[in-house]
Amino acid sequence: MEYTLDWLMANDGFLCDCGKRHYGLLKDCIIGENALAKVPEMVRKYGGTHPFVLCDRETYAAAGEKVCALLTDAGIPFTLHIISRTKPAPDERIVGEAVMFCDAKCDIVIAVGGGVINDTGKIAANLKGCTDIYVATAPSMDGYASGSSSMEREGLKVSLNSKCPDVVIGDADVLAKAPVHMIRSGIGDMAAKYISLVEWQIAALLIGEYYCPTVAQIVKESLAVCVENAKAAVAGEKEAVCRLAEGLVMSGLAMNYAGISRPASGMEHYISHILDMRALEFGSPADLHGIQCGIGTLITAEAYEKLAQITPDREKALAYVRNFDLEGWFDHLRALLGHGAEAMIAGEQKEGKYDPAKHAARLEKILENWDTILQIAGELPSSAKLREFFVSIGHPVSGLELGLTAEDMREAFLAAKDIRDKYVLGRLFWDLGELETVAGVLQF
Ligand SMILES: [Zn+2]
Ligand SMILES: [Zn+2]
Repeated sequence: MEYTLDWLMANDGFLCDCGKRHYGLLKDCIIGENALAKVPEMVRKYGGTHPFVLCDRETYAAAGEKVCALLTDAGIPFTLHIISRTKPAPDERIVGEAVMFCDAKCDIVIAVGGGVINDTGKIAANLKGCTDIYVATAPSMDGYASGSSSMEREGLKVSLNSKCPDVVIGDADVLAKAPVHMIRSGIGDMAAKYISLVEWQIAALLIGEYYCPTVAQIVKESLAVCVENAKAAVAGEKEAVCRLAEGLVMSGLAMNYAGISRPASGMEHYISHILDMRALEFGSPADLHGIQCGIGTLITAEAYEKLAQITPDREKALAYVRNFDLEGWFDHLRALLGHGAEAMIAGEQKEGKYDPAKHAARLEKILENWDTILQIAGELPSSAKLREFFVSIGHPVSGLELGLTAEDMREAFLAAKDIRDKYVLGRLFWDLGELETVAGVLQF
């Protein structure tokens, strides 16, 4: 069957073949012409009497002003807070502002903007226990419909449980006028799904991780929609930008369905996280989430191609792990990432992925399933094709275009496996004793 956004939202929980009951948490999604006009209706539908409207200066101009005018016309009083900083960071300050300016009488949140504003609105609505309406101003990433907020707390990137927006609104005029770089970012974030879908299958095969073919199919379809509409979306064609936004929402819903981020993020997202951590700690160059993920996707796709050139060697892999200097690697992470490395090191101490006995067990699984691994990796488009696609839409294809060096990117590739306890390509190469070799031949 073909999965549509309406179907995903209409079904409130179904028992899937994977054994899980899947729920879509988003209640309404209005993307298209004149979608903004629906804001007052949505406020009333969810029992709001006094919205708290949150935006920054740019998003106020893009859509916030119109939202306020529509509320006024509808006779709905509201409290408006415009964050005065340009490009506000997702940190304590913005959350503090949202909480301090959200009056006691506010009973519904309307967040107008990109990812940061959405993430903040979700936190405010969660604290208040009220409905959250998100008005998207750019189709720049797929986290709109997620139940968590990607924030920076005490200088560290964290994912905080907040809530899924109840309503997502994407107005065709607003989305089509979004900066083209943000539209490319949305496409980069979707291209990441090529990798995550392959990696999810490999993790299921090797680690026995939960896998749902239905969720994978939904993500696959939303990816196809985004790729089909990419060129026209970048050209600012309204219909295509709306389809792209729908694809992004669907991908987020698929994550909700699975209850994990696995269907939508893998090695390429971790490469992006490393770049974010370094930017936060040392002020090194960084770009939009989706752009970094797009570049990470290209690197990872090229690395997957190297798998086919490897002949797994049990003795070589066992010797590599025997000689691996774990303390030296931890010191390297500290130098590379600063204090953000500590959480990663603590994670390893809990997980023990570097433990030689655990490695030996994984290695046997890898050797047993080698042909299947290659077959799954074969589902990826070639890195040459991906590169061509990115070039055709003006999406950066290398960290160099962001002001990073090849060495920065190589380091991000090597450290990506330590970000979380997920089995990603970097771990597979480490298990094979081939990580540094592969990193030495990739084009960064
Ligand atoms: Zn399922
Ligand atoms: Zn993403």
